[in-house]
Amino acid sequence: MFMNKRKKSRKLEFLEAILGRIRSNHSMVPVIKEQLRREQSGHKGELTLDSYLHYLPYHDYYIIKGLRLANDRHTHFQIDTLLLSPTHIPIIEAKNLAGTIEVDENRNQMIQNGEIGYENPMLQAQFQLGELHRWLARHSFPIADLEYLVAMTNQSCVLKTLAGSEAEYRVCRGRSVIPRLNQFSAKHQQVFYSQADLQYMSQFLLNHHVEPTFDIEKMYKIKRSEIPSGVHCPCCGTLGMKYHGGSWHCHRCGCKSKDAHLKALKDYYLIYGPEFTNKQFREFLGLESMNIASKLLVKLKLPNKGAKKNRVYILSLELII
Ligand SMILES: [Zn+2]
Repeated sequence: MFMNKRKKSRKLEFLEAILGRIRSNHSMVPVIKEQLRREQSGHKGELTLDSYLHYLPYHDYYIIKGLRLANDRHTHFQIDTLLLSPTHIPIIEAKNLAGTIEVDENRNQMIQNGEIGYENPMLQAQFQLGELHRWLARHSFPIADLEYLVAMTNQSCVLKTLAGSEAEYRVCRGRSVIPRLNQFSAKHQQVFYSQADLQYMSQFLLNHHVEPTFDIEKMYKIKRSEIPSGVHCPCCGTLGMKYHGGSWHCHRCGCKSKDAHLKALKDYYLIYGPEFTNKQFREFLGLESMNIASKLLVKLKLPNKGAKKNRVYILSLELII
């Protein structure tokens, strides 16, 4: 059973938020667009993989998507798709590459169309398995056998691996991920976890999921002043709605909205993080009136810390979307 929904990655949303605001001729736009394209392609591949996983026996697996956990060395590791079963734990790394894909274990590389080189995805998956093993041990879970697969999700991919190699066994294309998972299932017979264990473990893992944060200034040398503030019109996308009479108004198309500022707050959260002062709230939404800003803030019922002018509000995405 699926324990959570596949969401867009936080990085994908961060890049979309920047591109939704930055001026189109900014020098960093091509770099950000290329990164966005890769993230979108990865997300599409993961959704394709999910559509295959629906063919697995529903009660045999607890499936967790896009899990990111803290390791004991102050960094994090991410697992695209984690399957918990009574007898073993497979993880799947999805790759959405088109063309001819050759996985060369000896040189530890993956080659696309004979020329573009990538790291061997089997190594990535093995690294994640090592991290997962350490994490489970650190949290005192008994550890069943761990397995991994690399799933090539692009319909037009032609996969080349050496006959009889580990790559032939571990890297699969399209729907063949299902028979391969069934092979793992047949191989592991010893029961490690009860249904209650699996339920507890999957919830425990999800409770420890950590979303990444990004620093726009460090990553792209983009200053706050280069990100235009304001509220986007939900009808025509124009930035700079004006608030009066209890609603946001678009000067371009006449659209009215009571909650268009929530999308702007989501952008703020994605680009700058969860904390803001009353002044930053007013400036980012383009509100001139302190009174209106205070009223909108009160309505949001955000947790806050500090008093009066130094008060900092703490946004969470669950509260605004
Ligand atoms: Zn409009």
